[in-house]
Amino acid sequence: MEQCACVERELEKVLHRFVMYGHQSEERLDELLRSVCEIRGQLVAFGVQDADLSVLSQTMAQCCKNIKETVQMLASRHKDIHGSVSKVGKAIDRNFDAEISAVVAETVWETPERQKYLSETIVEHLYRQGMLSVAEDLCQESGVVIDMSMKQPFLELNRILEALRMQDLRPALEWAVSNRQRLLDLNSSLEFKLHRLYFISLLSGGINNQMEALQYARHFQPFASQHQRDIQILMGSLVYLRHGIDNSPYRTLLETNQWAEICNIFTRDACALLGLSVESPLSVSFASGCMALPVLMNIKQVIEQRQCSGVWTHKDELPIEIDLGKKCWYHSVFACPILRQQTSESNPPMKLICGHVISRDALNKLTNAGKLKCPYCPMEQNPSHAKQIYF
Ligand SMILES: [Zn+2]
Repeated sequence: MEQCACVERELEKVLHRFVMYGHQSEERLDELLRSVCEIRGQLVAFGVQDADLSVLSQTMAQCCKNIKETVQMLASRHKDIHGSVSKVGKAIDRNFDAEISAVVAETVWETPERQKYLSETIVEHLYRQGMLSVAEDLCQESGVVIDMSMKQPFLELNRILEALRMQDLRPALEWAVSNRQRLLDLNSSLEFKLHRLYFISLLSGGINNQMEALQYARHFQPFASQHQRDIQILMGSLVYLRHGIDNSPYRTLLETNQWAEICNIFTRDACALLGLSVESPLSVSFASGCMALPVLMNIKQVIEQRQCSGVWTHKDELPIEIDLGKKCWYHSVFACPILRQQTSESNPPMKLICGHVISRDALNKLTNAGKLKCPYCPMEQNPSHAKQIYF
């Protein structure tokens, strides 16, 4: 962040100078225009014949000189701004690494199949963001064919989310009602929360909505056992409808952050229902990459300086563990304590009969004449008794 702040400071300097330059040049030009207009006015008023020619030529010469000086002054100030702009460029060069491709294996995007995966991931991301026309253009240009069945859920989600952001609950309610059982199976309270918000929007309309609010309260009936307390609060607020909810103990019901919250709940539950991840895989990969990149750049530099290039040979594995924070924990991984490598499908974790777990490669390496001595306890055993375990 310090780097961004540094570049921003330089940028602010340029913007400041630019604004100052604008004001100054306008002022000077206005001044010049005024004096030229004055001379013209005098000429028109007195006529050329009446004026003293030598005085006139002097005035004109002075005026031309002024114009020339101003233009020169403005040109040199303009050059100064160029200097400040180039300082921004230098600040960017100084604070950011221009070459980040060094930490990426050159062959990553080599095959057409991988290129296709990348394009598909970008297209999916664009659909998620509701940028449909951009996604269509990318499909055409990259030749990626997206199945309509993959597109449809995103289109619907976006339509509903768009309405929710405009505080229109109807499309979301229709969707939630038609998916009621599946949402309940997921233990989702989305439908109740939507009804609740609709009820609150009626409350904010004041006493005129009293009857409508009372009638709408019938929608809470299926949720009575699960959300009893919430429903009690909502019904209690009706007492204060005449005097205004915002002056009552129930004013928290009108908090505006509920709209952002309902958008998040809808996205989370709708994605779960459709079997989609809540966040776009591209955003997740990009954010993780941004966090890991500085560490990777450092490692690369150290490897090059110490000339120990053999350290980073595994294509699918980083040379050290990089902590991306709890948010990025998705599933358990197992690193073999013997080979210090993450286990994979081709080298899965194996449980020995003593209960210790090592990778299959380690097991094969440690096996000697059909016997294996556990590197931890150290119980001697038959390696064929080890069992593969799954996380
Ligand atoms: Zn053991």
